[in-house]
Amino acid sequence: MAFDYDLLVIGAGSGGVRAARKSAEFGARVAVIEERALGGTCVNVGCIPKKLFVYASEFGEAWKAAKGFGWTPDEIPFDWPTLRDNASQEIARLNAIYERLLEAPGVDIIRGHGTLKGPQEVAVGERIIRAEKILLATGTWPVLPDIEGKELAISSNEVFSLERFPSRILIVGGGYIATEFAGIFEGLGASVLQSYRSDLFLKGFDEDIRRFLAEEMRKKGIDLRLNHHVMALEPHPTGGIAAHLSDGMEVFDTVLCATGRKPLIEHLGLANTAVQCTPEGYVAVNLQFQTHEPSIYALGDMTGGPELTPVAIAEAMAFAETQFGNQPKSMEYDHIATAVFSQPPIGTVGLTEEAAVANGHSVTIYESNFRPLKHTVSGCEDRALMKLVVDTDTGRVLGAHMVGTDAGEICQGLAIAMKMGATKADFDRTIGIHPTAAEEFVTMRTPRS
Ligand code: NDP
Repeated sequence: MAFDYDLLVIGAGSGGVRAARKSAEFGARVAVIEERALGGTCVNVGCIPKKLFVYASEFGEAWKAAKGFGWTPDEIPFDWPTLRDNASQEIARLNAIYERLLEAPGVDIIRGHGTLKGPQEVAVGERIIRAEKILLATGTWPVLPDIEGKELAISSNEVFSLERFPSRILIVGGGYIATEFAGIFEGLGASVLQSYRSDLFLKGFDEDIRRFLAEEMRKKGIDLRLNHHVMALEPHPTGGIAAHLSDGMEVFDTVLCATGRKPLIEHLGLANTAVQCTPEGYVAVNLQFQTHEPSIYALGDMTGGPELTPVAIAEAMAFAETQFGNQPKSMEYDHIATAVFSQPPIGTVGLTEEAAVANGHSVTIYESNFRPLKHTVSGCEDRALMKLVVDTDTGRVLGAHMVGTDAGEICQGLAIAMKMGATKADFDRTIGIHPTAAEEFVTMRTPRS
């Protein structure tokens, strides 16, 4: 069979773009198919606009805190259209950069929906494209809960482009997205109810961190309700949305469901190939990202690993280097630092206390719960929590967790030390930077009793 390309990538998100670019740089003939904007979830409706909205939401509190330092800030009203439109301008700029990044090494960009027709064939409309290898990188898509009136709710795909600022918002879910948007909308001045169905949100994070964040968010005014359910939504005569909740009925301007995501594989034509899915519905791959169909590979969110942009990018680099760079590489999934851009944010790397114990470690815990220096004068009630999970037998630091300003920035640095196998003694012989919050990580000497 004559091939049009050595590699055909379906999906121009973080993973797909990096795999296409890198493979083309190694000399492969590459095309990428995309039906939406270049850059995928991260650039268009995820990490990038979210972080811009987080920055926006931090100003209100900063102005309040400024009073303690002698400023008399004027009341400046927040203007939602300015934020929304400035953020979308930045996204358009990034879309154009992605286009140039693909075009520079000679990647063809094919606009449209790609459907697998066989192990080495993809249809885009009437056009059939043949490639020696195909890479699936279509990501995931939000899932709304199956409740009456769910069509009145929005997902994170729509939240950045709302016509009007919602003064009253109901946010359903207890994962990264729900928790981040609870902080964003509270900071921007909305009244926020975050509804989580079980007894403590942010499943999988360290339990002390989850409890501490819940308290901090409530102090800021977020109405976080646990063991709480949304049964149905219906239009309210005042123009809002009436939400029937497990504790009564309340009216909101917007209902945001951040209740998880599922792989974007519908209409991908997987049935025309030997590609198989895991019981959870993700595309099944081996350590080389190869599916059950030997010519078809998949990576990023759709394969069920950590749904994080840097992971998709690292997988894409390993894929391109292995397949076209003659430098076989495999992924290491340990010590992946991550942050929840809640307010205050969480930073975390390594094992939670619960996971360390479950994995058979005997652990010693070091913890520091303090009022950051800034807030001794700002009047703000925020506190910070830092926690180290240490293996009692070897002294190795198994986990570092934090809730507080710049937690993500701090934990990125700790991840390097932990990846290198740092012990508590290594942390102890490191001199702190004073006065910072981060220095607490190297000055905790007394284990928690
Ligand atoms: P998550 O899977 O993290 O969270 C989904 C939440 O919705 C959970 O709390 C879940 O509850 C709840 N839920 C699921 N189904 C229902 C239902 N039917 N009714 C009520 N609640 C429900 O998904 P997200 O959408 O928040 O995020 C997806 C992924 O994106 C994350 O896992 C993360 O990897 C990535 N992400 C990363 C970010 C970052 O790096 N800062 C930011 C945003 C997203 P339960 O816990 O009980 O299952």
